[in-house]
Amino acid sequence: AKFVYLFNEGRADMRSLLGGKGANLAEMTNIGLPVPPGMTITTEACREYYRLERKLPDGLEAEVRANLAAVETAVGKKFGDTDNPLLVSVRSGAVFSMPGMMDTILNLGLNEETTQGLAANTNNLRFAYDAYRRFIQMFSDVVLEIPKHSFEHLLTNQKTAQGVAFDQELTPESLRSLIDNYKKLVLKETGRPFPENPLEQLFMAVEAVFRSWNNDRAIIYRNLNKIDHELGTAVNIQSMVFGNMGNDCGTGVAFTRNPSTGERVLYGEYLTNAQGEDVVAGIRTPQPIAKLQAEMPIIFDQFSQTAQTLEKHYRNMQDIEFTIEKGKLYMLQTRNGKRTAQAAIKIAHDMFTEGLIDKKAAILMVEPGQLDQLLHRQIDSSASLSILAKGLPASPGAASGLVVFSADDAERLSKTGQKIMLVRMETTPDDIHGIIAAQGILTSRGGMTSHAAVVARGMGKPCVCGCESIKVDYHKKQFTVDQTIIKEGDHISIDGATGRVILGDVPMKDPELSPEYLAVLGWADELRQLDVRANADTPEDALKAREFGATGIGLTRTEHMFMAQDRLPYVQQMILAETLEERQQALGHLLPMQEGDFYGILKAMDGYPVCIRLLDPPLHEFLPGMEELLIETAVLSTRGDNPPLLAQKEVLLKQVRKLHEFNPMLGHRGCRLGITYPEVYEMQIQAIFNACARLSREGYTVLPEVEIPLTLSKAEMDFFKERIDRIAGEVMKQAGTTFHYTSGTMIELPRAALLADELAESAEFFSFGTNDLTQTCLGFSRDDAEGKFLPHYLDAKILPENPFAVLDRKGVGKLMQLAVEGGRRTRPGMLIGICGEHGGDPSSIEFCHQIGLDFVSCSPYRVPIARLAAAQAAI
Ligand code: PEP
Ligand code: MG
Repeated sequence: AKFVYLFNEGRADMRSLLGGKGANLAEMTNIGLPVPPGMTITTEACREYYRLERKLPDGLEAEVRANLAAVETAVGKKFGDTDNPLLVSVRSGAVFSMPGMMDTILNLGLNEETTQGLAANTNNLRFAYDAYRRFIQMFSDVVLEIPKHSFEHLLTNQKTAQGVAFDQELTPESLRSLIDNYKKLVLKETGRPFPENPLEQLFMAVEAVFRSWNNDRAIIYRNLNKIDHELGTAVNIQSMVFGNMGNDCGTGVAFTRNPSTGERVLYGEYLTNAQGEDVVAGIRTPQPIAKLQAEMPIIFDQFSQTAQTLEKHYRNMQDIEFTIEKGKLYMLQTRNGKRTAQAAIKIAHDMFTEGLIDKKAAILMVEPGQLDQLLHRQIDSSASLSILAKGLPASPGAASGLVVFSADDAERLSKTGQKIMLVRMETTPDDIHGIIAAQGILTSRGGMTSHAAVVARGMGKPCVCGCESIKVDYHKKQFTVDQTIIKEGDHISIDGATGRVILGDVPMKDPELSPEYLAVLGWADELRQLDVRANADTPEDALKAREFGATGIGLTRTEHMFMAQDRLPYVQQMILAETLEERQQALGHLLPMQEGDFYGILKAMDGYPVCIRLLDPPLHEFLPGMEELLIETAVLSTRGDNPPLLAQKEVLLKQVRKLHEFNPMLGHRGCRLGITYPEVYEMQIQAIFNACARLSREGYTVLPEVEIPLTLSKAEMDFFKERIDRIAGEVMKQAGTTFHYTSGTMIELPRAALLADELAESAEFFSFGTNDLTQTCLGFSRDDAEGKFLPHYLDAKILPENPFAVLDRKGVGKLMQLAVEGGRRTRPGMLIGICGEHGGDPSSIEFCHQIGLDFVSCSPYRVPIARLAAAQAAI
């Protein structure tokens, strides 16, 4: 196999072989942009390396050497040459971008002799020594795995010895002795001298990049982003250009559009006289890119034009790294830029209007899950806030939490259910678990492209960075702003859209949706085939759902109405009734209340279908718990001062005992309640139709769908259908009005799916209750599995995903397919939808589209996500 490609041999579509970075370097080279020459070692070589149990494959070294010769010719320098040495960078390049997750080595090829060559050639001994000491430091960290802080320590000592504060102030002599100290440290730590042979350095570095594919932070990142662990990484070996050779040099990163807002302006930062890592690591706070226009106008124009060329070429917003060496611009990397939801929408919208992409491409450009960010709350602008400080608005959204100063603390405390705010001077890839655990991130250093900012934006997490007025003290676990001290555990809030840091908790409000958002979601509606409904139990939720674009209610859970405080006494009376008469009496109280509930929802959904499910949960859920009652009766009987209350509690206890089940989720619930207490379901049916009659007399259009939960046979369905039709007839006759209604069932049991053809003789529609169907198909308790054994199943890769979050297509999906086929065989064109949690999950929605469902139904806040996901499924 060919393991190595020169940049001019690759293309953008060779991403899976060359990694994202390698493919894009190749593409940029071939469209004629100024890219320092280099080569890419393929991901296949990395996979082979692991297959050989961590050994470089045969022939790889020879291939690299041959290609190195080509790079030498192109650059006019020689690797290892003492007069005019070629230096290279060695970087990882995964197929899917993993920002800051893997390691980079710069200035490789330096040793005692080549450093002298570099010094003579650039006429700058200080520069050459600085390059060499940086190289030793990076190489030792990444390849030799000697902790960074040992080197930092020596660097600090050197500055103290020379009596200066900044690295740049170190003299050549100081740097020389620093290099000697570094080398002593390496010898001490590894028992071997620092490698002098450039080729040996190179192959050690290549191996280290391969190894870094499986370092802890890379694994965590891949788990979080569901990236395949088998892909491997490519390695890019590129000739070095230097941004730190003087004030006509510099380095920076820029986005072709604002990654926070989507606005069409060049957006980024640069540092003069600096090497690339200085910007990304967020150690010096850089200048906004606009300043480059004043400082180096020619370079700025050239860069703006290149940025536009790249955007047109890739038809997507680009994230570009560049370096200026002695007044000449070089492009080091380009990739599709990560962006917030707000920016994603605006960019998709604007690129369509600019004629750069079509509607389908625009729809595909927005990640459905990201929309969540837009729909969530912002700080209420009318609230009076106690502003502590202001930093850079790195990732929008508002968050509040208790201050912690380390990623480990953030992770630990969030597990106890606390909302956490992670406060750091800066973050590094080692903090990833803390960033995941926190509500928001605040850093005192670093720019908009620092690690914290990039990672937070990718996760849609609020972040304020570069907030230099806060002084963080890890040791005392506190930060100060002027006189104010904020300690670990204190409450603060941040506003990632403005950069404000606020003392305490803050009132938040719903967001306003932009015209671009409405337009893009409108295109999604044109393209999708699935209807999107919402699960809603109140008129307020129903209205919210309509506002978000739902065109129906896919599930109203009536039990939520039974839980209300004014209902509960009657519900309990109904459950405790000894005779039918007593029960009827309780139901008589509940009827008008339920009628009011249904009236409100059906009215809010005027003209749209509303699927109302009859009572589902086991009755004991409406009674006090057994333990609680045992204690109460014990106390009352010892005190002996209230015999009537004691008697009442004892009756209750007896009933609770009677209703107790070992396995309530498989017990007396769902339509089994309706079979044993038909009068309860009859009351609900009556309430639905009474509400319908009132509304249709008032001129509203009602489209009720009466839904029976947890059926397993046609006989059950028949039992209820007879009652539904009878009551509907009576109500219409009495009210002198007509309305259209249907009756159908949830599919939540494997037996129902298997016998769907029979069920469809009686049921007019199906709705998949995939929460229960997953529970009953896998035999996993939906209440316990996720907290107990499921994580182990996921870790051990026995299951690919949590089946309660992402539909198990293989098992549950097969049952669904059978049910769709069976149902529509009996009843062609039968209405079929889904209302389990999966109805709001993009991957599950794709499957629902594929098997021909009519609708998905999800919580109101997920409706926009479902609309977009349904459109993507149809493209
Ligand atoms: C289901 O089981 O998927 C469903 C929607 O019903 P519930 O979650 O109320 O049991
Ligand atoms: Mg259910």
